[in-house]
Amino acid sequence: METRTGANGADHPAPASSEVLIELTRVSKEYRSEAGLVRALRDVSVSIARGEFVAIVGTSGSGKSTMMNILGCLDRPTRGTYSLGGLDVGGRTNDGRAIVRNRLIGFIFQGFNLLSRTTALENVELPLQYRGVPAGERRVRATRALEAVNLAERMYHTPNQLSGGQQQRVAIARALVTDPPLLLADEPTGNLDTRTSYEVLALLQRLNRERGITICLVTHEHDIAACASRVIVVRDGRIESDTRQDEPIDAAAALAQLPPPQEASAGGDRAADSDAAHGHVLRGGPVPRSAGFAMAGGLALGALVGLLYDAVVLGAVGATIPVLLGFVGEAWWGARRGAKVLGHPLAADQRARLALVYTLITTAVIAFLAGWLVFPTLPASSFDAWVAPGRLPWGIALALLLFVLALALLRYLLLTFFGSGFFQRYVAGRPRRASAP
Ligand code: ADP
Ligand code: MG
Repeated sequence: METRTGANGADHPAPASSEVLIELTRVSKEYRSEAGLVRALRDVSVSIARGEFVAIVGTSGSGKSTMMNILGCLDRPTRGTYSLGGLDVGGRTNDGRAIVRNRLIGFIFQGFNLLSRTTALENVELPLQYRGVPAGERRVRATRALEAVNLAERMYHTPNQLSGGQQQRVAIARALVTDPPLLLADEPTGNLDTRTSYEVLALLQRLNRERGITICLVTHEHDIAACASRVIVVRDGRIESDTRQDEPIDAAAALAQLPPPQEASAGGDRAADSDAAHGHVLRGGPVPRSAGFAMAGGLALGALVGLLYDAVVLGAVGATIPVLLGFVGEAWWGARRGAKVLGHPLAADQRARLALVYTLITTAVIAFLAGWLVFPTLPASSFDAWVAPGRLPWGIALALLLFVLALALLRYLLLTFFGSGFFQRYVAGRPRRASAP
């Protein structure tokens, strides 16, 4: 059994950086099941230096995933020690391992494991959210990670609007966004066709070369393993061979050699492209929910001021000024909240959606309250007149609809004004925040 880096390739030079990142010493993993004891790993010792690109190969059941789970601090060895970057992680508690995992390791899975109803951007932001990184910085870093995998254009797509290869690239961006020194990938190309597999591999090779990220990749395909700088073959829980490959296949070159893409395999990308061409892409992405709540707060405040004004100054109901103040207040809060969450002012489509949805919700609430509080107090005769046959109040309905649309437009304009550079600079006196590079 090989125990050391390059044991099979003693005549090959050592890797550029010989600083050890991963050190497994006599690691065994046993599972107790009804069928008896399963020895998934037996006395495995291996050390991996920073900057290596290692492929772990083996037949099904040979112990590859068990090894990855231990390397990824998802599981601990039954016996033996595991040290990562000089830290003894094998012996740590669950919480201790979770911290190491969060700081040092990015994961890529066969099934991508993306949240399906969430945009690429939000998926990539997630690990930062777990770390408590503020919203503005989250967005900047997630955008940068998506740029690194050439998916900046698809930021606001959800996984079902992306092809398999694009989804795996989003998953890679998510693994990268915390700048981990180690990437672990368990069969990352298992669900992908040859062309897309090489695309993903070319990306991993570039990250390994340009950023010096250490990569451990599990695969059962020899074409994929040929792209790594070192291949560890696992069999029955033991390391069968450990070989350095001085001239690994360059995945980008292999990709160029392949015949041009077939209609079918490019389908996903094409669908997404035509989506963009037809303008279906939402430019500013989802509206932060808290902007709506901020607007509700503004409206409530405006209503309160209005009631006080009515009671104290006018002594009667029906003042226009406080209502307008309420609108101004809510738009101000909403625009401010949106800019704070996103790190830049709301985009035009976000303002439009916020204004429209918010107006519809407030209208529904007011209509409900009116139906519940006001109508029962009206004399029956006036109600009858409204709904009398042949006298359906289409005119009233149309007027109400126009009124609601005018309200939405007013809110849109106010949101635009409060997010504008003019307002930020000359009224609020704040320099506009730089948007993501
Ligand atoms: P691979 O990923 O190479 O296909 P695994 O590491 O998943 O192999 O599994 C190695 C061996 O350990 C297999 O025999 C498998 O059945 C067994 N095994 C894996 N996980 C468990 C578990 N949680 N409980 C019992 N046996 C397991
Ligand atoms: Mg497996």
